[in-house]
Amino acid sequence: MKAKNGRELPVLLNGVRKKRGKETFIDCIFIEMSKRIEYEKEMLNARKKLEELNKAKDLAHEALKALHEELAGKQEKLIELNLALESQAYTDGLTGVGNRRSFQESLAASIAAFDRLQIPFSLVMLDIDYFKRINDTFGHPVGDEILKKLARAIQEQSREIDVVARYGGEEFAVILPDADRTGSGLAAERYRRTIEQMDWGECQVTISLGVATIREGDTSESMIQNADQALYASKSGGRNRVTHAEG
Ligand code: GH3
Ligand code: MG
Ligand code: MG
Repeated sequence: MKAKNGRELPVLLNGVRKKRGKETFIDCIFIEMSKRIEYEKEMLNARKKLEELNKAKDLAHEALKALHEELAGKQEKLIELNLALESQAYTDGLTGVGNRRSFQESLAASIAAFDRLQIPFSLVMLDIDYFKRINDTFGHPVGDEILKKLARAIQEQSREIDVVARYGGEEFAVILPDADRTGSGLAAERYRRTIEQMDWGECQVTISLGVATIREGDTSESMIQNADQALYASKSGGRNRVTHAEG
């Protein structure tokens, strides 16, 4: 086409044949070519932008996935760490058996089980004989090794359900669920004999034991007191022996 001033004006003509009654006509639109090129440019730009955005979205998605995975991993680690911490809080650092806290809680639970369900249990307290002398003669590190080896031996001589704990220093406690006077006496005697017969190198190691079996009205304190008194009787009776609280 030509503009008023005679300038050539390239246009694009789109025509559609249509019908109105018997009449056929062609519906046309003219678009300046320059406009069409602009439109095309705009569309190209828009498509580019869309591609860029899609790419960014994919990247963000991947980053998010990685973050999710990292978070899941961290959570798992945290659970493991908490479990380890909890187990540490109930474990004696030197010997690896339960610590005093684990003993106190197990004892309280055993008392409650007896009060509620009449499930009996016995408590064994044991103490190394003349340990001071062993330390003085062979040195503290040797004493520590004896404590570790002894704890392991007591644990090995116990059932899965028994709770072995270091009560303090060179004194250990074992809670024997479901064990009556006879059962606990046998277990205590087994501990005594095992320690006596073990190979301790140049040392000689024996233990004295006191046993108490729960009776109606007993508390954690009375159980410990009874077992402790029995242990004291084993000491004063000559050591390397078992005494039951009820004689
Ligand atoms: P008894 O037969 O009357 O029990 O005599 P004993 O010498 O064993 O008793 P005493 O209570 O006089 O001494 C206990 C010793 O245990 C004193 C202490 O140095 C030692 N001991 C306590 N804890 C540890 C420990 O963790 N490592 C070592 N190596 N020795 C310890
Ligand atoms: Mg001792
Ligand atoms: Mg002692």
